[in-house]
Amino acid sequence: MIEIQPIGLAEELDALASAPTTHRGPQCSVGAFLATADEKAAASLRAALDSDRVTAKAIADTLSRYGDAVTAYTVARHRRRGQSNGCRCER
Ligand SMILES: [Zn+2]
Repeated sequence: MIEIQPIGLAEELDALASAPTTHRGPQCSVGAFLATADEKAAASLRAALDSDRVTAKAIADTLSRYGDAVTAYTVARHRRRGQSNGCRCER
């Protein structure tokens, strides 16, 4: 009885497990903005995101005027981050 070991499988799985874990998943553009913005802007954005009086569209329109275009959908998804229908940014 010969046990067939796919050559390289163990090595490839080892490589997956030891891959750099700098990113848990692709960041959405809101998360990317938070990661690169200065502390004051990031804090203001977090406050706006946490406030249900601020619409996702208002945030998206404002962010889009200062950098890459962000859609209201992306903002709404970032607000649901960590949930099954949210983005994969860290909560
Ligand atoms: Zn996000």
